[in-house]
Amino acid sequence: MELKITCIPGDGIGPEIVNEAKKVLNKVAKKYGHTMNYTDILMGGASIDVHGVPLTDEAIETAKAADAVLMGSIGGDTNTSPWYQLPPNLRPEAGLLKIRKALNLFANLRPAYLYPELADACPLKKEISEAGFDMMIMRELTGGLYFGERKTVEENGVKKAIDTLTYDENEIRRIAIRGFDIAMKRRKKVTSVDKANVLDSSRLWRAVVNEVAKDYPEVTLEHMLVDNCAMQLVKDPAQFDVILTENMFGDILSDEASMVTGSIGMLSSASLNDTKFGLYEPSHGSAPDIAGKDIANPIATILSAAMMLRYSFDLDKEADAIEAAVKKVLEDGFRTGDIYSEGCEKVGCAKMGNLIAERI
Ligand code: NAD
Repeated sequence: MELKITCIPGDGIGPEIVNEAKKVLNKVAKKYGHTMNYTDILMGGASIDVHGVPLTDEAIETAKAADAVLMGSIGGDTNTSPWYQLPPNLRPEAGLLKIRKALNLFANLRPAYLYPELADACPLKKEISEAGFDMMIMRELTGGLYFGERKTVEENGVKKAIDTLTYDENEIRRIAIRGFDIAMKRRKKVTSVDKANVLDSSRLWRAVVNEVAKDYPEVTLEHMLVDNCAMQLVKDPAQFDVILTENMFGDILSDEASMVTGSIGMLSSASLNDTKFGLYEPSHGSAPDIAGKDIANPIATILSAAMMLRYSFDLDKEADAIEAAVKKVLEDGFRTGDIYSEGCEKVGCAKMGNLIAERI
């Protein structure tokens, strides 16, 4: 199979970690008989330095012509970098918002998986971390409170701010379908999270999710209120497979879920539209404090590349091989500095990439 992939190395540690992901993908291609066809584009600070804008229209067209986008990270030190003296629409992060909009990426996927080897980094009680967890948070990304009408007014000398939370049934249906499709590739359980005891948008959410569920008889569906879900994530995270939720709830819950894994350098993510196309990137930022030192952890980006194979190319076996290689490297005792613990061997970014590629 020929895989057309647009790469966005970006800023900070971005180029280093994308390089390691390519190394692993090339090994997969060699072993399973695929051809990787990469085209790099500039985004964020790297694009500002060359073109004066964080993302050009030409770069968007290149991304659209590919089957998937693999990204490192963008942005610099927000206190010292000259990029942050620019107006907000010309700063690095504006490139990310622009590409998400241009590619209609409405579904955000963030796995939270606790590797037994890294269980000490989990801030939960030992009996909970020992049970392990492996969940996927599916968050609606382009609707709800963050995109609704907003204004601040003054009435009788009192300032009042108004944000509106709107969802229509089509927006809910397309994300629900995505969530159930993902569950079919996993343990076939969906927990739909809402606040249906209070919000109309949540009552519509629940009704549409119930309708979609009828097309997936193999998937077990449960509904959970968001406040309960926030508690359950720290009390019994092992109960979750796919958590399906709207924009703001997902924003908060996905950060909570990633914190309980305790390892920011390990967390991958994907943003999908209603085709097979997706943008895959680590959940962390560009870590300008450690850029260029060959000490960044490339695993989140390598696991994002595995998600790309699974969700954009349906290459499940190849994705499994990458995930197994990451597990094996951890079992063999190799760690980058951010996940290092006594008794392990500390390695740099490039060495970690080599070790994973060798185990494919
Ligand atoms: P960050 O995630 O870049 O860094 C937070 C801390 O985690 C730092 O100490 C960093 O060294 C460490 N860290 C992050 N990734 C690591 C890795 N792979 N290996 C080892 N250590 C790692 O967050 P920040 O410092 O708040 O942001 C830095 C820049 O990244 C900012 O410009 C921000 O806007 C940008 N950012 C971009 C994205 C994105 O591109 N999607 C996401 C978040 C932040």
